[in-house]
Amino acid sequence: MHVRFSEQDEAFRREVAAWMDDALGGEFSVLRRHGAAQADAMSHLEERRAWEKKLASGGWTCVGWPTEHGGRGLSLSQEVIFHEEYARAGAPMRLNHMGETLLGPTLIAFGTSEQKQRFLPPVVAGDEIWCQGFSEPNAGSDVANVQTRAWLEGDEWVIEGQKVWTSWASAADWCFTLCRTDPDSKLHKGLTYLLIPMKQDAVEVRPIEQITGESEFAEVFYNQARTRKDHLIAGPGDGWKVTMGTLAFERGVSTLGQQMLFRSELLEIIEAAKASGKASDPIYRQRIADAWIGLEMQRYNALRTLSAKDATTEPAGLVTKLFWATWHRKLGELAMDVLGDEGQILQAAPYELTPLQQMFLFTRSDTIYGGTNQVQRNQIAERALGLPREPRPTT
Ligand SMILES: Cc1cc2nc3c(=O)[nH]c(=O)nc-3n(C[C@H](O)[C@H](O)[C@H](O)COP(=O)(O)OP(=O)(O)OC[C@H]3O[C@@H](n4cnc5c(N)ncnc54)[C@H](O)[C@@H]3O)c2cc1C
Repeated sequence: MHVRFSEQDEAFRREVAAWMDDALGGEFSVLRRHGAAQADAMSHLEERRAWEKKLASGGWTCVGWPTEHGGRGLSLSQEVIFHEEYARAGAPMRLNHMGETLLGPTLIAFGTSEQKQRFLPPVVAGDEIWCQGFSEPNAGSDVANVQTRAWLEGDEWVIEGQKVWTSWASAADWCFTLCRTDPDSKLHKGLTYLLIPMKQDAVEVRPIEQITGESEFAEVFYNQARTRKDHLIAGPGDGWKVTMGTLAFERGVSTLGQQMLFRSELLEIIEAAKASGKASDPIYRQRIADAWIGLEMQRYNALRTLSAKDATTEPAGLVTKLFWATWHRKLGELAMDVLGDEGQILQAAPYELTPLQQMFLFTRSDTIYGGTNQVQRNQIAERALGLPREPRPTT
C-alpha cells in the first residue's frame, strides 16, 4: 500500500483544486458545501443538473472510466486525489452518482457495444440522470423476492409493479431495474435487468418525506410502463447476475471523498465542543479522539482494499461499509451530545435544521441503505470468516 503520492500526483492535486475553486464561483456558489449528509438532497436541482454539465466540460465526470468509454482513465491514486479534492472544495453531492458509479460500470462489464454507445456518452456529458430501482415493499435485504413483472409485447417490454426507496427518482431520466420476466420463477431465477425511461405517463413517482424533512427517495409505480425490447442488460433471466455486478460496484473509490466530508463534520463538532467547553470534559475528549482514530482507520483500510486485486470481495473490503456506516451514525450522536439542548431546537419553522442536525438525522439511514449492518455481518461471517451459511429458502 502506498499512502504517499508522487510529485506528478501532487501536481494533479493542485490542478483539480484550482479547477474546483474556480468552477464553484458565480452561479454554482450556492452549491458549495451541498455535499452528502449535511445538505438537503433535493434542493437546487436546476443548478445541480447544470453542475453535471459543467464538470463534463472540464472532463471531470467518470474520471475512473477507461478513455475508450469516454472516461478520463485516471490511475487509482489520481482517482483518490480527485475525490479528495472534490470533497475538500465543498463541491455538491453528485446528482448522477448512480449513472456514473453503478449503471456505467455495469454496462461496461455486461452491455453490448450498441448499448454502450447509446447510454454511456449521456452519462459522461451529464445529460441523462439515472436512479436505481431494486428495492420493493417485500424485497429489500431479500432483493431476489422482486415482484415487479415485465413481459414482451411486440418490440417493447411492459412493466407493472411497485418499487420503493428509489433515490433521485423525481430527478431521474432513466432507472435500471430488476423485474420478474418469468412469471413461474422464484427467487433469483427468471429476473431481468431492464433500463426504463422515467419520463412517461405510466411511471408515477411519489416522493416519501424523510426525518430530515427532505424527499431524496420515492415510491415508484410502473403502471404498464414501457421500454424498448433491447433495453435489457445481458439476456432475459440474467438479471440476478447483472444485479450482483452492480451491487459490487457500490463500494468504490468515492468512499475516499466521503471520508473527506466526514472529516469536515468532525472538525465542526470539535469547534462546537471547544465553544461549549465540552472539549475539556475527559469523556467527550475520549469520544472525539475515538472518532478521529476511526476516521484514520477508514482511510487506511480504503486505500488498502482499493489497491488490492479484487477490492469488492477481498475480506478487508467487506468490512468497509459496516465500519463507516456504524462510525458515521455514532458521529451524528456525538454531534447531538456536544450540542446538548441547543441540538434539540429547530432553527426556524416549520422544519429548518442546522447542518449538524441534518447530518444526525441522515446518519440514521447509513446503517440501512447499500446493505443493512445485519446483512453486512452475515456476509462477513460467511465470506470472510467461513462460518456456516445462514438458512435460506431453497425453492
Ligand atoms: C436513504 C436510503 C436510500 C435508498 N436508496 C435506494 C435506491 O436508490 N434504490 C433501491 O433500490 N433501494 C434503496 N434503498 C433501500 C435499501 O436498499 C433497503 O432499505 C435495504 O436494502 C433494506 O431493506 P428493507 O428496508 O426492505 O429492510 P428489510 O430487508 O425488511 O430489513 C428489516 C430488518 O431486518 C434485518 N434483516 C433482514 N434480513 C436479514 C437477515 N437475513 N439476517 C439478519 N437480519 C436481517 C435488516 O437488517 C433490518 O434491520 C434506500 C434506503 C435508504 C434508507
